[in-house]
Amino acid sequence: MMKAYVETTVLTNVLLKPGSEKEAEAKSALSRYEETLLPVYSIKEFKAGPLDHYAYVHDKLVQTRSLAHTLAAVNSLNPITEARRKSTSLEALAAAAQLDSTKPRTIRPGSPADEEMADRYRYALASLIILRWQRRRKMTTKTIQDLECYTEAQPEIGKDGFFDLTPKECAHDRPCCLWGELKLDENKSILTALRNAIPETSQGYEDKNRRKVLKHLINTPKLPLDREQCRWLGDAVFAFFCPKDAVILTTNIRDHQRLAKAIGKRAQQP
Ligand SMILES: [Zn+2]
Repeated sequence: MMKAYVETTVLTNVLLKPGSEKEAEAKSALSRYEETLLPVYSIKEFKAGPLDHYAYVHDKLVQTRSLAHTLAAVNSLNPITEARRKSTSLEALAAAAQLDSTKPRTIRPGSPADEEMADRYRYALASLIILRWQRRRKMTTKTIQDLECYTEAQPEIGKDGFFDLTPKECAHDRPCCLWGELKLDENKSILTALRNAIPETSQGYEDKNRRKVLKHLINTPKLPLDREQCRWLGDAVFAFFCPKDAVILTTNIRDHQRLAKAIGKRAQQP
């Protein structure tokens, strides 16, 4: 039976979407494989992306002490430049509503009822963020490929009431630990295939930056990989490091299949 190499989107659905269809779908997908492998790179992306966006909503509730004003803040996020933060923030509010047993009422912004709702949602999000983070390594059969340059610190709420999720990246005082493997001469053809799998015409900044980092590794492998570049590699890390006897399990099938196929691997969706 195939093994699943669990990508960030599936980890996110299984941890941060209580009671949703996405959660059920991700859980049943994980149960189909004999072994499910979670690379620490997924944990790193999970914390810097979705978990950070959930913490953003929590912190807005702390700052505004109003559910109405928090909703307004999320609604006013730019749908293009902040698309991901916006959609994940809406999912965070849906998760808080799901965990909060009382039915939302029509409430006047700034009223005591509004502040009470903000308190309840803030509490729901704080427990979700802290408890689900603690379960991150329990959702799969194994956690693999530790990142020596990345510390999995527990999310904490500071004295100001805001979440502290640092560090969200690899350490800055040394090259990223993935560099050692990526720079090897024998891997040059794999990196080239991955770069060619990203359309040159792609306008997305993620694709552009990913191509740039791959080019750096292909042409100047002796120049260290820094933490920014490690982050930009993103999807390419999954294709490159997915074990040969595993498939990449992801909801973002389009981007991952393209990269995986280029180097004889496969991606599947839940
Ligand atoms: Zn790194």
